[in-house]
Amino acid sequence: MPVAGIAMSDSTDKFPQPLGGNDMPRFAGPGTMMRLPAVETAEGMDVVFIGIPLDVGTSNRPGTRFGPKQIRAESVMLRPYNMWTRAAPFDSLRVGDLGDVPINTFDLKDAVARITDFYDKVLEHDVIPLTLGGDHTLSLPVLRAIAGKHGPVGLIHVDAHADINEHMFGESIAHGTPFRRAVEEGLIDPHRTWQIGLRGTGYTAEDFDWSRDQGFTVVQAEELWHQSAAPLIERIRAAMGDGPVYLTFDIDSLDPGFAPGTGTPEIGGLTPIQAIEIIRGCRGLNLVGADLVEVSPPYDPQGNTALLAANLIYEMLCVLPGVAYRDGAGS
Ligand code: MN
Ligand code: MN
Repeated sequence: MPVAGIAMSDSTDKFPQPLGGNDMPRFAGPGTMMRLPAVETAEGMDVVFIGIPLDVGTSNRPGTRFGPKQIRAESVMLRPYNMWTRAAPFDSLRVGDLGDVPINTFDLKDAVARITDFYDKVLEHDVIPLTLGGDHTLSLPVLRAIAGKHGPVGLIHVDAHADINEHMFGESIAHGTPFRRAVEEGLIDPHRTWQIGLRGTGYTAEDFDWSRDQGFTVVQAEELWHQSAAPLIERIRAAMGDGPVYLTFDIDSLDPGFAPGTGTPEIGGLTPIQAIEIIRGCRGLNLVGADLVEVSPPYDPQGNTALLAANLIYEMLCVLPGVAYRDGAGS
């Protein structure tokens, strides 16, 4: 008796698959994201995972240089199919792990230039990059490449912080400045930019008003306390329209009770369930790239933060354009 969706299995032969736990124990095998094939080039791929082992842009606790490696390590439990949405990304997309960007860890500005060069080459191909960070500085050079290809993008920015500082310690490039630079450089459309989860203490009570003055919509964490994030992301989806959208997800948007392994934690944050709602709600958007940043393994002794990050990146993969959904797919 045929089971719904099984007929599509034949098609998976054409697409790279994560190495299964019945072929190689979960704790062994390749160190790639989801134990997918390592690829040398984005040519012929639909989606590539890319690590950016950067932490020289951070302002407090370091350690995000170890983020990509640890997210990959915690991705070994991820199986191909999404049991709620029935997303089947490996039925219809060619997905591989392109490895890490060889950043210059002695020179942040040079590292930033290298990241843009790397992504410019990746984006010569018709491919969506999913980035494992790395501190949040990296979103600026990635957006430079993304906007170079797609023009100014809508931005969904999930974070405890607005990352819109004019300077940090006199520097224009740091993990707290990328979205001010992105506005100045015309990389993002301010009227299609949403910042979700902002909270904590400020240098002034008006810190988030710069975002609002640009046309961003700011949703502070308190606006999401004790409730589902699904209605919010529905509003965002409607507001984004068909234009290109980039998703940047700072793990410190989550409460440090769930995600302690990060450099600048703030209490009163999002729950993992709200994070999943936000990402699943991006289905149908014209996503052209996404990143997950600020995972710091030295502050993550149980590995929960990297485990969350790995799963959230998987959820991002599941909502990219072109993902197949098995029969009976829900929301
Ligand atoms: Mn950030
Ligand atoms: Mn943050």
